[in-house]
Amino acid sequence: MRVGIDVGGTTVKVGFVDNYEIKERLVVKTTKDKLFEDVCEKIKEFVDLKNIKIDSIGVGLPGHVVGTVIDKLPNIGIENLDIKPIFDKYFPNIELKATNDANAAALGEMLADNKVKSAYMITLGTGVGGGLVIDSKVRDGAHANCGEIGHMFIDFVHNYKCSCGLFGCLETVASATGIVRLAKEYYDNFETKLKKDNLTAKEIMDAAKENDELGLFVLNMVSDALGRAISIIELSVDVDAFYIGGGVSMAGDILINRIKDNYKRYAHYAIKDIDIKLAKLGNDAGIIGAAYLS
Ligand SMILES: [Zn+2]
Repeated sequence: MRVGIDVGGTTVKVGFVDNYEIKERLVVKTTKDKLFEDVCEKIKEFVDLKNIKIDSIGVGLPGHVVGTVIDKLPNIGIENLDIKPIFDKYFPNIELKATNDANAAALGEMLADNKVKSAYMITLGTGVGGGLVIDSKVRDGAHANCGEIGHMFIDFVHNYKCSCGLFGCLETVASATGIVRLAKEYYDNFETKLKKDNLTAKEIMDAAKENDELGLFVLNMVSDALGRAISIIELSVDVDAFYIGGGVSMAGDILINRIKDNYKRYAHYAIKDIDIKLAKLGNDAGIIGAAYLS
């Protein structure tokens, strides 16, 4: 059985995967101290109890990872940690692979999509992340920075300052936070049912579905930024399909269709007809993808 581990800000989700399906699950609370020792202990207890034989272990991590070395997991507060010695202590001689969580999710989604061998996943959450799979293998890049598309310079119009220190990054307008920022910026320019205080990206997308002027304006602006970003990414990586996942993607068809329309405006003629679709595995993509890293 392959073990896929998806490390999140509040919980660590462990799946025991066989034939691309999660057969058993474990959830461990995320802590700053001794997180991986905790996870290993829980897995060990579980496999001993159920008499499961582990063939490989893969871990998807929410941050910058080089090989099995965590550079930084900003939301958890872990940095400069090689997880290999920890796993080796509990599971000697079992292969361990690690990558960024968006890469793991990209691989998981791709494995669930029969004809596809290369794919790019874009996660729209609090930030914007990306993951690349070519020939069924995750590509981390020379600096393990391959998926950091949230910091691609896309928004020339507002030039908002990003959390990374740069200006006009994709995630300043296309993340959940960015969507709310745009709605507040243009609030007074449109008729809207939305309330300015405590706005959420979901409310704005829901308003767009009901033809709310402000909602539609923001949806178009976000889709335009994503369409342009995808046209640039596709020129560099030339993959079969793009998957759009993360909380914002719950907006569904209205978002995907606008992204496709905008993509076509920017795309080179030879790549106009690529597949851009909703990610369908949700949280399981990260677990299944992690399990097949090795
Ligand atoms: Zn940035």
